[in-house]
Amino acid sequence: MHATSDTLALIGNTPLVRLKGPSEATGCDIYGKCEFANPGASVKDRAALYIVNDAEERGLIQPGGCIVEGTAGNTGIGLALVANAKGYRTIIVMPETQSREKMDTLRALGAELVLVPAAPYSNPGHFVHTSRRIAEETANAIWANQFDNTANRKAHIHGTAEEIWAQMDGRIDGFTCSAGTGGTIAGVGLGLKAKDEKVCIALSDPHGAALYNYYQCGELRAEGSSVAEGIGQGRITGNLEGAPIDAQFRISDEEGLEWVERLLKEEGLCLGLSSGINVAGAVRLARELGPGKRIATILCDTGFRYLSTLYNAEWLTAKGLPVPEWLAEA
Ligand code: PMP
Repeated sequence: MHATSDTLALIGNTPLVRLKGPSEATGCDIYGKCEFANPGASVKDRAALYIVNDAEERGLIQPGGCIVEGTAGNTGIGLALVANAKGYRTIIVMPETQSREKMDTLRALGAELVLVPAAPYSNPGHFVHTSRRIAEETANAIWANQFDNTANRKAHIHGTAEEIWAQMDGRIDGFTCSAGTGGTIAGVGLGLKAKDEKVCIALSDPHGAALYNYYQCGELRAEGSSVAEGIGQGRITGNLEGAPIDAQFRISDEEGLEWVERLLKEEGLCLGLSSGINVAGAVRLARELGPGKRIATILCDTGFRYLSTLYNAEWLTAKGLPVPEWLAEA
């Protein structure tokens, strides 16, 4: 590979890896798209770059301007990196329940961090509404609006889906991932369907989200809860509108964590819980489609972002979740 002088060109073009454990467990070939390999260590770098480039092309942001966003953290990290490289400020609004590591990372990147109490979407204090208000009140600022701004899913239609198609030599039977904004599932789904209508697109929904019921029976209704950060949607966002969902699974934190632990111990991958939920979904999809099928999913972010939570015995115990033996011994 030749040298590049554009740091933003480091976003995307991530590796795709065949996951041994999930493949052997199902007799399928299950592949993980290594989104933790992006500069901000998550899939959200792609949406951040696409949203800012789109705002520039449409003349919405001026030199020295400010980007405001409400985020579970990863989009904020992506936006802060993109903004730094392009000479903008960032103001990031985040629920105070997100991991300490994400807050520290955002501060380290120079973003102005505004923490708000976790609240339902109907509450005006919700992080999304707070970020929109701050953008309106700040001079020369734009609101990234990742949930309803479809520049988000375009990053996956034109980037992630194209890459997966090429990396799998155009031979893919199924794709699954979970949804936060829905940009990844809708964008990759639309992109892959444009190549081959027969690719099965499945949603892997955590407990506490409403999309499983929506795609199952048309009703937005949530049951239970999850500690997974960045996923678990309660409404049809602008990015989810028209998403080509063929199947849906509901995945528990325990089922996702089992794969997080196996991928760490057996394959040397340190990942967050949304990745574990995605791999659990890929295993379910493989069992539905049958042996010999080729399935892809998303490894959304690095586990180093959750050392104080998913990889901390005290935290796991407090949440009533099983503690892996090597953490219990530490
Ligand atoms: N996993 C993690 C860790 C995330 O931060 C996000 C983004 N919120 C997602 C998955 C879901 O991505 P999307 O917003 O594209 O649905």
